[in-house]
Amino acid sequence: MTDSVTLNDGTTIPQLGFGTYLVDPKDAVETVGTAIDVGYRHIDTAQGYRNEAEVGEAIANSGIARDEFYVTSKLTNSNHLRDDVLRSFDETLEKLRLDRLDLFLIHWPLPTRYDGDFVSTWKAMLELLEDGRLSSVGVSNFQPDHLEQIMDATGVAPVVNQIEVHPYFRNESARIASHEHAIAVEAWGPLGQGAVLNDETIAEIARDVDRAPSQVILRWHLQRGDIIFPKSMRRERMEENMGLFDFGLTEEQIARIDALDQGANGRQGPDPDTFDMV
Ligand code: NAD
Repeated sequence: MTDSVTLNDGTTIPQLGFGTYLVDPKDAVETVGTAIDVGYRHIDTAQGYRNEAEVGEAIANSGIARDEFYVTSKLTNSNHLRDDVLRSFDETLEKLRLDRLDLFLIHWPLPTRYDGDFVSTWKAMLELLEDGRLSSVGVSNFQPDHLEQIMDATGVAPVVNQIEVHPYFRNESARIASHEHAIAVEAWGPLGQGAVLNDETIAEIARDVDRAPSQVILRWHLQRGDIIFPKSMRRERMEENMGLFDFGLTEEQIARIDALDQGANGRQGPDPDTFDMV
């Protein structure tokens, strides 16, 4: 149903998943349950989304074997100290009702908090790999110099860097720095959190390939090799966002979408160098 990507630790991850940012806890059991019913087996959540327990409930309700799922969560900004990393990881597993998490990420580097010490946080994340309850460890929103710092200190590259990427903000510097170290890129906000959906160039290409604008944008990501997990609360959109593997974009169409990049002005989310919310 979806292609998979092999990560630098030898594990594999489905290239397409389901995102749960801003899926309100009161809706999350039903929404994630619908996504599972539609066929999603890769789910991206975070401590900060406050819906881990509901994601866990939806997975349990599905009756589908644990190993068919790929589940990611993220360390929230207030948990960067070592003891909080270890304690909150236990809570994440408990909420998700899992014995093992597939992937755990540092959500934001917070270079202006904790004395800029995300290296200690990374070392604590690596400790989590030791007892088999975590399969892979990665980061999110890390800029090139942040990646260098954690790798220089530990010699261990994250398996993924989950960063904002979409046609209005290709984020090439963080993307290229990730690829240089065999770190897979997960493109968050793949639809620009909705901003790219009404773009005229996307609409033209969508007419040419007889597909929805969302499918054109998501297909562009897949052909670039990035991992994506678009979010929708609606079943028909969840289905639409899965219909990506029976058509392709030409090099020329990809180049036209590439040309929509607005650099930093295209960002929809915060700048990781200054984001400091805890
Ligand atoms: P997105 O780019 O997936 O866009 C979601 C918006 O697009 C929603 O408003 C939805 O209604 C709309 N949409 C979805 N499918 C559609 C369709 N087929 N037709 C029309 N509209 C459609 O934005 P997102 O949810 O912010 O990003 C995806 C996931 O990435 C999140 O859910 C979360 O899991 C992750 N994320 C991570 C970070 C991070 O800091 N690591 C930040 C933001 C998001």
